[in-house]
Amino acid sequence: MRLNDAKTLEELAALGVELRPGIALSTLTSLGIGGTTDLLRVTRHDAIPAILDLLDRHQIRHKFLGGGSNLLVGDGELPWVVLQLSQPDPDVVLDGNLAHVDAAADLGRAVTFCAKHDLGGLEGLIGVPGTVGGALRMNAGAYGTQIGSYVTEVKVYRAARRTIEILRDDQISFEYRHTSFAPDDMMLAVTLNLPSKPYSEIIQGIRICNEKRRASQPMGQKSAGCIFKNPPGASAGRLIDELGLKGLSVGDARVSDRHANFFVNAGRASARDMLALIADVRDRVQKAYGVRLENEVVVWST
Ligand SMILES: Cc1cc2nc3c(=O)[nH]c(=O)nc-3n(C[C@H](O)[C@H](O)[C@H](O)COP(=O)(O)OP(=O)(O)OC[C@H]3O[C@@H](n4cnc5c(N)ncnc54)[C@H](O)[C@@H]3O)c2cc1C
Repeated sequence: MRLNDAKTLEELAALGVELRPGIALSTLTSLGIGGTTDLLRVTRHDAIPAILDLLDRHQIRHKFLGGGSNLLVGDGELPWVVLQLSQPDPDVVLDGNLAHVDAAADLGRAVTFCAKHDLGGLEGLIGVPGTVGGALRMNAGAYGTQIGSYVTEVKVYRAARRTIEILRDDQISFEYRHTSFAPDDMMLAVTLNLPSKPYSEIIQGIRICNEKRRASQPMGQKSAGCIFKNPPGASAGRLIDELGLKGLSVGDARVSDRHANFFVNAGRASARDMLALIADVRDRVQKAYGVRLENEVVVWST
């Protein structure tokens, strides 16, 4: 979608929005798939209610982009614009055991920044790409660590009320790859309460997690991490692997040879290829085990 109306563009600029016209989302997503639209970089949290009000008034549909590491975006010209928070400097501020982190902060860099100040707990999240906002949205987790366990409060734009609010941890539920935020809420910042730990101990934990990742995941290939959530009491990857589906392909979309729940873009896969592969694997697993796999990857279809 292209924004052409001069007055709308002027109003957006006055609200601190930086327009990046005609961006191919394939360049902003870890899968390397996705069509083209205008990207609006949001530089001020306080302007968000007015920005979204303006988009609504002009019937301009929108999506929120974090780091693009859990997304499968449709092909072609996209029928919505994309909003992305720009990263403030600094994006992490420490106060004792509390880390105040902007949603646009890179998760891995936030983990290592806290580690250097002897604040641990997040070691398991070290290899999870993307932003802190994206991690909060789905309660990202790995190796027994989930970001939600450390949250004390979240600053969020609540679309239903068009206000920016601070939610305490007891007002949010964080479950396995699921949170109680509304789909159109936008996470702006979070406060994490992290345990004190010596840097040397945290680094040791980080090394162990990095080794586990290197041993089990397709490194250096375009993916969105796990495509499916694990069904209760089972591993989606194991179910897919047991059916011998590693290497199964539709066009350049392919089930990884290394980790059966990672689907990779082995060349010039389209969203259509990847969606067909996801549907095929889901059907086969359902037929074989009676289990319907639910997407972990977020699909932005057109
Ligand atoms: C190689 C690889 C390994 C991975 N390993 C893991 C893993 O171990 N564990 C795990 O949990 N995930 C993993 N992932 C998936 C992904 O990294 C996480 O889900 C990550 O937290 C997504 O963050 P993001 O900023 O990239 O979000 P995006 O992909 O940009 O967006 C994902 C969703 O979050 C929403 N969103 C993003 N930012 C905001 C915001 N500020 N406010 C509201 N909504 C927002 C988007 O609208 C979208 O619906 C992996 C991905 C890759 C590529």
